[in-house]
Amino acid sequence: MQGGHVWCTKVLQEINKAKARVNTMHIICHDRDNLWFRVTEFDRLHDGIISGQYRVHLRNRTCDCGRFDALRYSYVHIIVACQNLRLDPMSYVNEVYKLETMYNVWRHVFSHVSDKRKWPPVSLALFKLLQKRELHRKPKGRP
Ligand SMILES: [Zn+2]
Repeated sequence: MQGGHVWCTKVLQEINKAKARVNTMHIICHDRDNLWFRVTEFDRLHDGIISGQYRVHLRNRTCDCGRFDALRYSYVHIIVACQNLRLDPMSYVNEVYKLETMYNVWRHVFSHVSDKRKWPPVSLALFKLLQKRELHRKPKGRP
């Protein structure tokens, strides 16, 4: 974990994608102390077309859409709520997405070998990938 890399890259990419969608949301904070919000998601903001309304409860880490329970990281509803109260959306990312946690899952399988000279030799011979004919798709429009 060098260079300040703390979080899984995929999660950071998803959070950045979600940040780009924040302007399609409207949020009302109903209870500042309990971190309870109502998020209205607009398909087309300028046309006022609503695609959903959700209750976000940051303290309980729940949202009506169910994604917060499933993903356990900040997505667009959570990021909008965090922005409303100037909270850090990364504080709502579960520890399982930390690189250190991921490393610890595999620690017993892969031991750390710091000295490159002690790495086992690897064959540099190229291998040929054999194709399985029965897995090929038939072209569309042909029997
Ligand atoms: Zn949600």
